Amino acid sequence: MSVIKKVTCHVVSAPIERPFTSSRGWLYKTRGSCIVEIETQDGTVGWGECYGPSQVARSFIDTQFAPRIIGRDAFDVEVIWEDLYNRIKDYGAKGMAIAAMSGIDIALWDIIGKTCGKPVHKLIGGAFRDTVTAYATGLYFIDMDRLIEEAVEEALEYKHGGFSAIKMKIGLGSPKLDLARVEAVRKAIGDDIRLMVDANHCFTVPAAIRLGRELEKLDVEWFEEPISPEDLDGYVQVTQALDMAVAGGENEYTRWGFRDIVSRKAMDIIQPDICAAGGFSECRKIAALATAHGVECVPHAWGSVIGVAATLHFIAALPDQPPSFRPMPPLFEFEQCENPFRDQLAKEPIVLLNGSVPVPTKPGLGIEIDRSILKKYAV
Ligand SMILES: [Mg+2]
Repeated sequence: MSVIKKVTCHVVSAPIERPFTSSRGWLYKTRGSCIVEIETQDGTVGWGECYGPSQVARSFIDTQFAPRIIGRDAFDVEVIWEDLYNRIKDYGAKGMAIAAMSGIDIALWDIIGKTCGKPVHKLIGGAFRDTVTAYATGLYFIDMDRLIEEAVEEALEYKHGGFSAIKMKIGLGSPKLDLARVEAVRKAIGDDIRLMVDANHCFTVPAAIRLGRELEKLDVEWFEEPISPEDLDGYVQVTQALDMAVAGGENEYTRWGFRDIVSRKAMDIIQPDICAAGGFSECRKIAALATAHGVECVPHAWGSVIGVAATLHFIAALPDQPPSFRPMPPLFEFEQCENPFRDQLAKEPIVLLNGSVPVPTKPGLGIEIDRSILKKYAV
């Protein structure tokens, strides 16, 4: 038995030097997270992370979830998941309640791994690959007077830094400007770098289809969140209209949320976030659903090194989609905006090596947390 003794939420926030925005319109001036620490009676500590507003995640955990899991066996991770979900689903079958559960689930898998002396990917079926090809997420909007120039400069930095794939933000209120910006980036990085775009759901269906047809000419690999996530019929329309892949789902939750997307083939690629959609336990089920419907699963990632490590273990255990002589395995989203919790929270940071990121091999998530960073940025 690994009896759960204590659950602690560390809410952290750090100011950043160069605030940025996407089509969502709000300005990112800080990076933060709700980091979940779970300790067992034998002194094992597991770490998890919750996506989204961190104080809300802490409130769900402190008031609803922590009291229910104290005294239980960490190895009963899926029993605990079902219990917490059934506790909360009348009020929060989607959104922050599930993000809070995700942090707990990840921490429990970390404990199980540390107790067994095995990395998490070994516990969820084993690694199909030791390294995961990464794509750089960046090219947000920073200097409104240099939107095209700054995008080109940043894309070239990623190319020269070893990335073979880059995802850029679009949604500047003018499809012409979006197109000019993507064109400039494509021209600068050349044809050998894979390029994706992310609209953060700012377009209507006809605008998305029209822009998508132009983006296809620039060999854009996927169009992420072209339209609002609530409009599943609209996603079916956009996905059927375009040859390029349509991606989405970073704001969807649990197997029930993803069931309707994949069964209707509303997207070619779903992007559940481990720290939001339900942790390892639930994202494994979501990935299985996707496979059964011929939909790719390429997880979303936007967080600290804990979310990064969890995502790497999860991707390592995803089969090639589909298996072949020279498969095109799922990519890892390596977000590159300023974030001390990604770069400094682990004593050994997770870094890019020849365009890929090695899957951690030490027990559990395979990272060691530097508590001084939690202290320094505590809210
Ligand atoms: Mg996105």
